[in-house]
Amino acid sequence: MSGTLNNASLKTGRSFDLGKMNLRQLWVAYLTYPTILLYFALIVASIAVATHFFAGWGATLVSIVAVILVYPLVWYLLHRYVLHGRVLYKMKWTASLWKRIHFDHHQDPHLLDVLFGAPVTTLPTIAIITCPIGYLIGGIGASATAFGTGVTITCIYEFFHCIQHLNYKPRSAWIQRMKARHVLHHFHDEDGNFGITSFVVDRLFGSYYKDAKARPRSPTVFNLGYDIKEAKIYPWVMDLTGSPPRDRPDGARPDTKAARGTRHAA
Ligand SMILES: [Zn+2]
Ligand SMILES: [Zn+2]
Ligand SMILES: [Zn+2]
Repeated sequence: MSGTLNNASLKTGRSFDLGKMNLRQLWVAYLTYPTILLYFALIVASIAVATHFFAGWGATLVSIVAVILVYPLVWYLLHRYVLHGRVLYKMKWTASLWKRIHFDHHQDPHLLDVLFGAPVTTLPTIAIITCPIGYLIGGIGASATAFGTGVTITCIYEFFHCIQHLNYKPRSAWIQRMKARHVLHHFHDEDGNFGITSFVVDRLFGSYYKDAKARPRSPTVFNLGYDIKEAKIYPWVMDLTGSPPRDRPDGARPDTKAARGTRHAA
């Protein structure tokens, strides 16, 4: 199995390219990826702390459920208003952060290195949201449970996010639907379908759309509004990339069957 991933044909540059991988190769890459291994280690550590300062089953379960409910909402707000807000690239000191945490992913959605969130940004965010919730519910023990739950959900999100960019057609209908919605976010109109595994919050906030017929194609779907004109005024992201922002990914190809199915109307 180890030989599977030493194959240069699975990579573009230094990163695994999900457009070139199958599901089995994705599983191997995922389960050996340093960021994911760090998350697994933190989940184990959280369980240890939660056991040592055990808050009782009631508080433990309530903190798990609370994080499961809050997580999609927080992710939605961050994705819509921070990652897609046109503020971070306008300041020199946040430009590289924005480039890494979202611009690069929209410029080339198949590259695993920039698909995964960077732990330096994900972990503090998870901690700031989940630890106080857990602490209010049941002190240190429940706080660790809440944090561990947040990291666990992040692992699940990251895996499904990989699947959404993997060049394959999922067997189950609900994963197909989920993949199609996210593909629309990347290839049709970025100003909608902000969820990853669930689009309940999108429906609540009115940003959900079902197919390409629902909206016109957005000209900024790959550059998130950071086009050549913006790059002239705010050059930091472009300087870091070493080239001007692109209007479509390198070697743009029909992304997946799902994308082809949803793009014909564009
Ligand atoms: Zn994506
Ligand atoms: Zn893709
Ligand atoms: Zn996005």
